Amino acid sequence: MKITVLVGGVGGARFLQGVRHLLGSTPFPASGSDPTESGNSVTAVVNVGDDAWMHGVRICPDLDTCMYTLGDGIDTERGWGRQDETWNAKAELAAYGADPDWFGLGDRDLATHLIRTQMLDAGYRLSDITAALCKRWQPGVRLLPVTDDRHETHVVVTRPTEVDRSAQEPADPEQATSEGSDTKVAIHFQEWWVRYRAGITTHGFAQVGSEDARPAPGVVEAIEDADVVLLAPSNPVVSIGAILSVPGIRAALRATAAPVVGVSPVIGGAPLRGMADECLSVIGVPTTAEAVGAHYGARAHAGLLDGWLIAPEDTAHIPGVATGCAPLLMSSPAATAQMVRDACALVGVDTPEVDNS
Ligand code: GDP
Ligand code: CA
Repeated sequence: MKITVLVGGVGGARFLQGVRHLLGSTPFPASGSDPTESGNSVTAVVNVGDDAWMHGVRICPDLDTCMYTLGDGIDTERGWGRQDETWNAKAELAAYGADPDWFGLGDRDLATHLIRTQMLDAGYRLSDITAALCKRWQPGVRLLPVTDDRHETHVVVTRPTEVDRSAQEPADPEQATSEGSDTKVAIHFQEWWVRYRAGITTHGFAQVGSEDARPAPGVVEAIEDADVVLLAPSNPVVSIGAILSVPGIRAALRATAAPVVGVSPVIGGAPLRGMADECLSVIGVPTTAEAVGAHYGARAHAGLLDGWLIAPEDTAHIPGVATGCAPLLMSSPAATAQMVRDACALVGVDTPEVDNS
């Protein structure tokens, strides 16, 4: 069977561990002669909204989190970056006073970014580069950036005044607008998230990059040809929302013959980790399983979902969507595999029993 999953970083990567546990590994990149033992295949459509240029290298946090997690290279405590990481390059950059000084760029991680940047300079597409990097990591699922085009999430904020005073000028004067006494600027999502911990006055999100970003090769086909499409319990705004804002993705989800099922990232009225509630409040969606499901909407009513899996402590009534309850804690690949199985069962898609051995 074929499963296609829309994912962000940490939550998405953990969910993919469950899908892989359930269906087995998909060789990626496929050599053509590689047999999938079971005939099953898993494709992850990964958010690129967090991608950024830092110190001259291209960073793709969600792609790398998925690649390192599935390839057993992740720092499991932090949830991102490489295990056994050192930070010499970061310290040396800081000693030069190089900006940005708030971004954690590890030495091991830097090698990935250097190769990616060299390949971009040589004209390769991000999807090809991801496949090349995955030759080393063997994630066991096909990782596709949702688009090869630049499609970054930026955040319109009121810059804190102490920063205004210490800075010569806003980071990007072109993007500065005035409204009353406060100055609105658009900053990169990474700056909002990592530097300001989403704790400043925020007005909205915008995707910045190519005017006509297109889905990367294979993405629309993976949605069309799937037996079931899953929305991972990733951040509904800056992970899944950023994926959905690539022109063509929403239409592909609405058109596919496969059922589309989402898994709630909100349990008991709170996101499990991270700051999804800050993102949801910016777009005016309450942090409840029901509100997030309603935000995705029913496919029967111009939305995206046929099914919505929530935790037993939550309730949701979304007309046109089959809603079910199951434990949603991704505590192990086997527990997550059961969650994937429950999500598929909601829409009548049968999957193998979970191997708990
Ligand atoms: P990021 O890109 O690293 O921020 O990660 P994602 O967007 O993929 O996932 C972040 C989301 O995962 C958060 O909003 C959490 O609510 C959700 N999450 C994390 N752990 C769990 C879990 O065990 N179960 C569920 N249902 N959601 C989780
Ligand atoms: Ca992310």
